[in-house]
Parts: sequence; structure tokens; C-alpha cells
Amino acid sequence: MAINGIKGFNDILPGEVEKWQHIEATARRVFELYGFAEIRVPVLEKTELFSRSIGDATDIVEKEMYSFVDKGENRVTMRPEGTASVMRAFIEHKLHAVDPIAKLYYMGPMFRYERPQKGRYRQFHQIGAEVTGVNDPKVDAQVLTMLCHFFAELGLTEPSLQINSLGCPACRPVYRRALTDFLRARIDKLCDDCKRRLETNPLRALDCKSAGCKEATVGAPSVLDHLCGECEAHFDALRTHLEGVGTSYTINPRMVRGLDYYTRTTFELVTTLLGAQSAVAAGGRYDGLIADLGGPSLPGIGFAMGVERVALLLADREFSKRPDLFVAALGEPAQKLAFGLMCAMQRRGIAVEMDYEGKSLKSQMRRSDKFRSRFTLIVGEDELARGIAVLKNMDAGTQSEIPLDADAVARGMLA
Ligand code: ATP
Ligand code: MG
Repeated sequence: MAINGIKGFNDILPGEVEKWQHIEATARRVFELYGFAEIRVPVLEKTELFSRSIGDATDIVEKEMYSFVDKGENRVTMRPEGTASVMRAFIEHKLHAVDPIAKLYYMGPMFRYERPQKGRYRQFHQIGAEVTGVNDPKVDAQVLTMLCHFFAELGLTEPSLQINSLGCPACRPVYRRALTDFLRARIDKLCDDCKRRLETNPLRALDCKSAGCKEATVGAPSVLDHLCGECEAHFDALRTHLEGVGTSYTINPRMVRGLDYYTRTTFELVTTLLGAQSAVAAGGRYDGLIADLGGPSLPGIGFAMGVERVALLLADREFSKRPDLFVAALGEPAQKLAFGLMCAMQRRGIAVEMDYEGKSLKSQMRRSDKFRSRFTLIVGEDELARGIAVLKNMDAGTQSEIPLDADAVARGMLA
């Protein structure tokens, strides 16, 4: 019996992979315009890194992590997200000593034990970026503008940007108390998870999908009414900067993020096109995280986007590559010459295909159509004897006779 892959772990096949390459190349190009450098961190980390940073009372740490004890009795976890690892590396290699302001981006697989469905998998991929060392809301505006620039470069009008502020250690506890009091009076309506974390993480109830929690949180106190003066000024300045550079947004005071380390600015890029999987990218400030992980007291801000969800938004676009040329040759001597010609052209950077097996001209032309090659070069016995070939422009439907050598073919394709 054949062995299949594991549920929730996907293969990305040719035909689809070109879309992924396009997304990745666009991210690299756009992020590098904003001064970001790539960092590559491992897939496996000590479990403690995630429980300490993401938070013990979050969905990710409570239920979704792929954790195991390895042969050396170490408790390890397949990373569920990238920020914790990037900050671990930032601290471990003392990048802050070189420059406290680091702009880093990463891309790669993440792992969460969730129920697989469209846009939600157990191995999925994120592209993310982080900036350390700057408190100023200009940086928040820059990160958000870069993210919107990336989606615009892909030609997407969805998703749209929503922002919120979750306050800081000075004002969040006050809000938490107000929200806990509000929810305690409606505790019967809350789902079991939200009941249980009413004291540890009451904010989660605000974006819980269960009908009871939705009902219980109608009219709940807004975090934005509880910000301290500094957080309010930070949020106002962010809005002014976004408006100044024409980055449109809406405010969603109910947006709480599923990770504990967020402070102040939080944001999501949401779409209505992917059903329940509405968040395409998300992130926020994490001004306490670097110190919590044993590093210096430096602020940070970042985001991660789900590549599978971006790919779904690009669903009907065609990204697969076409060869420049297909060489069709009839008879053994012509085939041999065509093979040499193909290799010479490939070495010049021209993408060439041919039929390796000496099939009929009709079958070779079918293969050329299948590849959607831009040009087809036909070398028959007759042409070979005359030292010429027929070059067909497949898009224009025109053809011409040209001398049978790589230079002439390359020139003919430019003409
Ligand atoms: P959701 O609310 O959809 O569960 P999340 O809040 O858990 O998302 P984050 O942890 O902020 O998501 O991750 C950032 C992005 O990574 C999400 O916006 C989404 O695009 C993507 N993502 C998260 N979990 C998955 C998954 N299991 N499969 C595919 N993409 C995912
Ligand atoms: Mg989630």
C-alpha cells in the first residue's frame, strides 16, 4: 500500500509553487526597500521559549504546540510562530550590541495542531518581519505601510488593515479588571474555555468564535477607553502618520491578539474572502518581550502573514513559467543537432525544451503547445540539409527561416 502524507501537512506542487515563489520574491523585494535583512532561525526550539513568550494561557501554548521530549530528554517544540525565535537569536548573538535597531524578516514553516480546513493547516508558512529598538510610532506606521505596500505589489485590494491598541503594563491591568467584572456578570453565556480563562486571559473572550461569547461581549468595555495618557498619545500619533502617508485603516477596538506579549499597537489584515480564516496577516508591538526573554530592555514590533492565505487570495492568477523555445527535430541527425543547440541556448540563459525520444512532428508540436513555449524551432531532414530551420512565433502565429545556429536562433527570437 502506498504511504500518504500526514493530514494538515501539504505538498506544494509545480503549478502552485510558482505562486509561492512570486509571493516570496515580492516580500523580499519590498522588505529590502525598507531596509530589512533576512534572518534564518531553526524550526525546533526549547519548549520554554514559546511558553514564556507566547504565554501559558493562550490557545497556541495550551493546545496547539507540537512538543516532544527528544532522545536527550530535552523538551522541544516545532516552532508555532517566528517572533520568539527571532528575538531569541537577536539576544543570543547580541545583535543589539552592534545596533539596537534591527530590521529583520524571515520566512518558513510553522507548526500548530489545529483542525485542518481551508486556510488552516498543521504545517503552514509565514513570512514575517520585526523591528527592535524604536518606541516611536513612526516605526509602527512604517511597518504597517510596508505590509500594505506588499499586498498592493501583489495587485490585491483585499485584505484591509485594522488597528487597535492593547495598552501597556500601566493601563492594561485596569482594563482587564473592567472587562473581567463585565464578563463575570455574564459568565453563564461564556464558552468553557473563556470561563476557565476569565481570570488568566479575559481578553480572549472578545474574539472567541462561540455564539455565547459573542453575545456576552456585546457592549463590553473598550480597551481604547482605558489607555493611559502615553498609550493614547502613541496611538494618536500612529493614526496621524498613517493618514499622512495615505495608508488606510479602520479601528477595531475588539481586536485582541492570541499571544500574550503584545503591547500598544496591534493590527490585522483581514479579508472577507476566506470565510472564518479572515486574518491574512497580524502583528503588533511587544515592548516587554526582549527583556522577558533575558535580553536588554528594548521595544519591538512585528507581523507575520500566512502564505497559504495569501496564495488563496491570488487563486486564479497564473504564475507558471513558459519556456522561451521548444526545439522540434525530425530524424536522428536533426535530433542530435537539436540537442546540442538546446544546451548552447540554455547556457546563454534561454529556457529551452525538446522531445528527447524522437517522436513524430505532430506529437512534438503537441508537447510544445502543452509547454506554451513562446517559440518553436523546427528542424527537419530537409532543413538540416540546407543548414536552416523554421522559427515559429507561437503567440503571433508567424514563422521565418533562419540559419541553424544558436546565435541566429537567439537573434530570430528577439526580432
Ligand atoms: P487565526 O485567528 O486564523 O487562528 P492567529 O491569530 O492564530 O490566526 P497568528 O498567530 O497571528 O494567527 O499568525 C499570523 C498569520 O498566520 C495569520 O494571520 C494567518 O494568516 C496565519 N496562520 C495562523 N495559523 C495558521 C494555520 N494553522 N494555517 C494557516 N495559516 C495560519
Ligand atoms: Mg490561531
